[in-house]
Amino acid sequence: MTANKNLLKDVAANQPRHWVRITHACNNRCLFCLDRENQNGSILPMKEIIMDLRKGRSLGARRVIISGGDPTMHPELSKIIKKAKKIGYDHVQIITNGRMLAYENFAIELKQSGLDEVTLSLHSHIKEDFEKLTGIVGSYEQALLGLLNAKKQGFIVSVDIVINKINYKKLKTTLQFYIKFGVSEFDLLYPIPFGDAWKNKDKLFFSPEKAQKYLSEAFALSGNSDLFIWTNRLPAQYLEGFEDLIQNPIKLHDEVRGMKSELMNLFEHGLKMSCEGDRCKYCFMRNYCLDFNELLEKKEIRGRKKQLCGKKVLIKNKKNKVFRLGSDFSLEAFTNFYINNRYFVKSVRCKKCKQAKACDGAWIEDIRKNGFSILKPSIK
Ligand code: SF4
Ligand code: SF4
Repeated sequence: MTANKNLLKDVAANQPRHWVRITHACNNRCLFCLDRENQNGSILPMKEIIMDLRKGRSLGARRVIISGGDPTMHPELSKIIKKAKKIGYDHVQIITNGRMLAYENFAIELKQSGLDEVTLSLHSHIKEDFEKLTGIVGSYEQALLGLLNAKKQGFIVSVDIVINKINYKKLKTTLQFYIKFGVSEFDLLYPIPFGDAWKNKDKLFFSPEKAQKYLSEAFALSGNSDLFIWTNRLPAQYLEGFEDLIQNPIKLHDEVRGMKSELMNLFEHGLKMSCEGDRCKYCFMRNYCLDFNELLEKKEIRGRKKQLCGKKVLIKNKKNKVFRLGSDFSLEAFTNFYINNRYFVKSVRCKKCKQAKACDGAWIEDIRKNGFSILKPSIK
């Protein structure tokens, strides 16, 4: 990927955006739904939605992402889009399974309301796999028609794909299929152990080591300069050779915001997080949670030490900085400390390294900039 493309991706990742959920209803039954327990078929009242839209603008966001459930289940979606534009958002995006867009009049209505971008969840190009994942017979044709209508209306169209046991072997072909439909931006999401994804873990979770070959073939498409591929929660070690696809660490702040009440309950009342247990080993936030617990236990936590091999450039934590618990504690400050001093990664090759036990690996930003090739395992 070119330096310019990387720069554009970092600028986009840093752009303030506001998420507004407008429904607790969805017309799919996806195996990996993270939010099933909150899906009661309801919609949020307009008053609440408008307040939320205003809140985002007051925080400086010019881009709003409208989600659900599925936002197309809200009978007043076009009114909400118009309102968002009136309140001052430059860019309005919806995240949807796309099925409602199969109705061309609906797509036209959203266009006329001012909608700019549609992110479609299209997890396979094969009908059987697609519908196994969405749980709805007929969803494949509707979603494809939705994609065609979205392109016809001139929306920016991006595609989300949750990588899982059912689709990973065909990921490259899936991307190529949607590229032929004119899609040039993809977000590849790694499953996390919550909601239905946890209940269906045997059907969904896969060994990234075994999947590496297939994933690498798909990631190689990112070399196409017209294509933007993002990854979401994909462990960095599986992106060796494609380090420009490693998710910007700043995104950890979004994860932490989603866990805030649980983390603060742990901090203030010592209440164990409700998700802690078996699922931690599958969780992208595992190291963060371990560090947070260490901080609470020891009242301080030290930055990691630079890797014991290879090129040692750029490293920030030369002084092995310390974060101490104080009355001014903020999760945001801790997350910044974690990103700058504790977010370290190893290569899959590190497993063979004699120094592996004593070594913390390398700082994520060093790897993003210089690649895993700076790590040189000592084998003998
Ligand atoms: S690592 Fe943290 S967020 Fe993830 S399941 Fe465990 S306790 Fe929950
Ligand atoms: S190869 Fe990996 S484990 Fe070995 S010293 Fe380098 S970073 Fe550490």
